[in-house]
Amino acid sequence: MPELRQSMATKEWVILAVERSERPEELAQPDRPLTEDRPEWEATCPFCPGNEERDLEILRRPAAGPWRARVVRNKYPALQEPGDRLLTFDGVHRQISGVGHHEVVIQSPQHNTCVALDSRTQVTLVLETFKMRCRELAQDPQVEQIICFENHGQRAGTSLVHPHAQIIALPIVPFKIRSRAEEARRYFDDTARCVFCHMVSDELKVGTRIIAESEHFVAFILYAAFSPFHTWIVPRRHEPSFLRATAHEMADLGDLLHRVLRKLYVGLRDPDYNYAIRSAPLRDPGYDYLHWYITLVPRVTRTAGFELGSGMFINSALPEDSAAFLRSVSAE
Ligand SMILES: [Zn+2]
Ligand SMILES: [Zn+2]
Repeated sequence: MPELRQSMATKEWVILAVERSERPEELAQPDRPLTEDRPEWEATCPFCPGNEERDLEILRRPAAGPWRARVVRNKYPALQEPGDRLLTFDGVHRQISGVGHHEVVIQSPQHNTCVALDSRTQVTLVLETFKMRCRELAQDPQVEQIICFENHGQRAGTSLVHPHAQIIALPIVPFKIRSRAEEARRYFDDTARCVFCHMVSDELKVGTRIIAESEHFVAFILYAAFSPFHTWIVPRRHEPSFLRATAHEMADLGDLLHRVLRKLYVGLRDPDYNYAIRSAPLRDPGYDYLHWYITLVPRVTRTAGFELGSGMFINSALPEDSAAFLRSVSAE
């Protein structure tokens, strides 16, 4: 019998229709080319060493010698600096000029790698680079929200295969982030607890949806996962902002993110995925009730009209089965 589950954090519902599901490993795409099978260097790739567009460069690490990661301005930005944030209200239409920042983080000089294949120190370097840029962008008074994310693979919306992530700094707080923050505040008002801290302690107690743990983070499949393997990686320490993660936490997260993505790479044959860092709005720190985390969605199924019509998802994989499967996959 299918079952409906509700997320404690967002109040959103999902239909778990597991009768029509395959075994977890059947979600792998058997004939797709793997990241590691690409050439190490590609003459036409703008992100490969030797093809750098220096005028777009914001940061390289390390500053001298061969680089391990670079940050560049997006050549085709969704938002553009500089300029003033101009608000226009005209009847039912409202508009804000598209000021902000859109940057690309080139995660490695190597063309045929990804988080799952990189070393743990390389993953940590990239996470630290996100934080450095976020702290810098937060100084811009027009920025309200910063999103760091990675699109891996075609189904996840990437056009360039060289491993890269993006940072978008917005002049507004998106509706979904605002409504989730309000939900978390309501939960805090009702229970005097941070809903995310509560979820982590509950997941650890039950254990069936845990994928992996580290000293500072817990990775688990959501009880009300929207799609197969929909995962959160949540810091154990209550902290609303990614910008305040400690160096120790970043090193630990680099290790855990690598492990989780490695399990997906091995278990599902390099699936396409998106991950994003969810952090509190810059000007509304929500100290008691917001909690930063990483959300990770492998793109192993497609959404359709029902999702468009209802705003809710049908998931054909039981979260407990997906988690048990990933726990059994070696990340070595
Ligand atoms: Zn490349
Ligand atoms: Zn918390």
